[in-house]
Parts: sequence; C-alpha cells; structure tokens
Amino acid sequence: MTNPYAIVIARHGGPEVLERHDVAPLTAGAGEVRVRVTHVALNHLDTWVRRGVPGHDFGLPRIPGSDVAGEIDGRAVVLHPGWGCGSCAACLAGRQNRCLGYRLRGENTDGGLRSEVVVPAWQCLPVPPGLTPAQACALPLTLLTAWHMLVARARLQRGERVLVQAGGSGVGVMAIQIALLHGCEVHATASTLERRERLRALGATPWSYEQIGKKGGDESGPRGFDVVCESVGEATWEASVRALKWGGRLVICGATSGAEAKINLRALFFKQLDLLGSTMGASAELLTAWGEVAAGRIKPVIHAILPLSRLAEGHAMLEDRAAFGKIVIAMETE
Ligand SMILES: [Zn+2]
Repeated sequence: MTNPYAIVIARHGGPEVLERHDVAPLTAGAGEVRVRVTHVALNHLDTWVRRGVPGHDFGLPRIPGSDVAGEIDGRAVVLHPGWGCGSCAACLAGRQNRCLGYRLRGENTDGGLRSEVVVPAWQCLPVPPGLTPAQACALPLTLLTAWHMLVARARLQRGERVLVQAGGSGVGVMAIQIALLHGCEVHATASTLERRERLRALGATPWSYEQIGKKGGDESGPRGFDVVCESVGEATWEASVRALKWGGRLVICGATSGAEAKINLRALFFKQLDLLGSTMGASAELLTAWGEVAAGRIKPVIHAILPLSRLAEGHAMLEDRAAFGKIVIAMETE
C-alpha cells in the first residue's frame, strides 16, 4: 500500500505547483465515512484554483479535486461536489447553491485529489450499475451545473430550440443530453470538424463558432434560439446574445475565455431577453439528475483516463480546450 498522499497547491502557477505530499492518515467521526479514492475527474475549476483568479482568495494551501469516485468496504461511490451550511434560509428552502456558506469540494474546501477522504455519509452517491467508477466520477459537477442551468434557471420547455456553446466541454456534453431529454431541438458549437462530428453523434446539430448569430442567417439555422447555454464568456458572448430569438433566455455558468462582456442594451430591451446567471445547483437536483444517469438516459463522455503521474498533462488539455468531454485521473491505489 502507498502511504497516504495528497496533491497540494501551495502557491498559484503552472502545472509545476501541483505538488505531491505525504499526509497523515484520516479518521472518520460520527456520521462520516472514509473513502479510498480511486478516480478524480478534472474540471476547468481545477485550472482556476491552480492558476489563481485576480481578486479571489482560494485559501491556499488547497487540495483540488471536485469530482471524486472511491470505495468504502468494496462499495463504489461518487461524492456530492458541493453542499450548503444546512441551516440558513437558502439551505432550508433546498437552494444550497444560494447559501453564503456554500462549499465546493476542491475550491473553498479541500478536494479529493488524495489517497483517501473523510466525508459525511450522505455525500456518497452509489455508482449506478453499468458504469465504472471512472465513468461515474466524470458526471457530478458538470451534470449538476448543466441541470440547474437548463431545468431550474432556463426552465426548458419541450420543443424549444437550444444552443449549447462549447458543446464538447464538460458542461456542454451534459447540457446537450439534458436538453434532448427535455424534448428540445439541440444545436451546439465546436471548433473543428472532428469535434462537430462528435456533437452530431450526441444528437446535436453542429455549428462552427463563426456561424453563430450571423446577420442574414435564417431562424432554422444558427440563430433564433429560445435558450443559449453559455460557459465560454468573452469570446462568444456577443454572438450568443445575437443568436437569441425575441423573448429568448441566455443562461451562463462560466467564462473560460474571460469575464469582460459588452451588451447592447437596446437589443436587451427590444428583444425582451432574459440573462440568467447560474452556479452549481441544489443537492436535490443532483439526486434527480442521478436518477436519469441510473436509468441510462444521461451518459458520461470521457476524453481520456490518465494516471496521476500525468495530471499536469490533463490540466494542459483542459487549458488548450483539447478535450472532448472529461479527463479522469486514475489515482494510485496499490
Ligand atoms: Zn446555508
């Protein structure tokens, strides 16, 4: 057996700041379980925690890793990526992601990129039959994020036309499947022909970024959408707004290309647009979405499973936007 270890970010920087340290073994308290970590899926969040975000304090040193699979006495589980304080008005209303004390594993509390974690027992979800732990850990954060965006915030209706920007991203591949599940006509963008073919295989009509929101495009084409799902930010924002039909809704959960955006206020009020911010989701929403996973109606999309020794390469793939779907890190368990 390896000694207990953790990947620790003690200062912001390049992949070299992802340092492996030996750590003390953990013990579980009342209501807690000790999980032997087998797989951790990467998110863009991991790269933000590593690089740092101007004006944001991640409280270093921090152990990253939001999407965690492991085992407890031979039982395979994945962990809830986030939770509320449990006692404020938002939490009691079941809106944990509006809790001012919201905790996101690997962001403002230590994550799972380590040999073992101790968590409250309720934070463990079963790995559904038919999925491996590596596949299951590719789901929770992006599944919950996309579910909350489209179901709770944008309130998708059957038959609506939905555009998912960056359809091959972790959130994108979930958003496409959730919109299809809700009976929508789904369109999505990607940068290369090969990635667009993969979008088509997921059931989305593919477009290049340059085609979106073009003047003169007709409303059966790359404009006139009821809902646009955004996570790219600066680089796609103006096209996303132009691509909305009158009364359309834009829902955004991230800004991987930058966070400074402009909007034409006349377009906002004349077209009567709704701009909706979204982050994570309620714990109950994850349980609902997990039911769809267990039923086989939402599937993980995995780009690569890499050993822990190739963690830096996994970060680079995310930063270069080279991944289609998720990158999963296989932990050292022997
Ligand atoms: Zn709370």
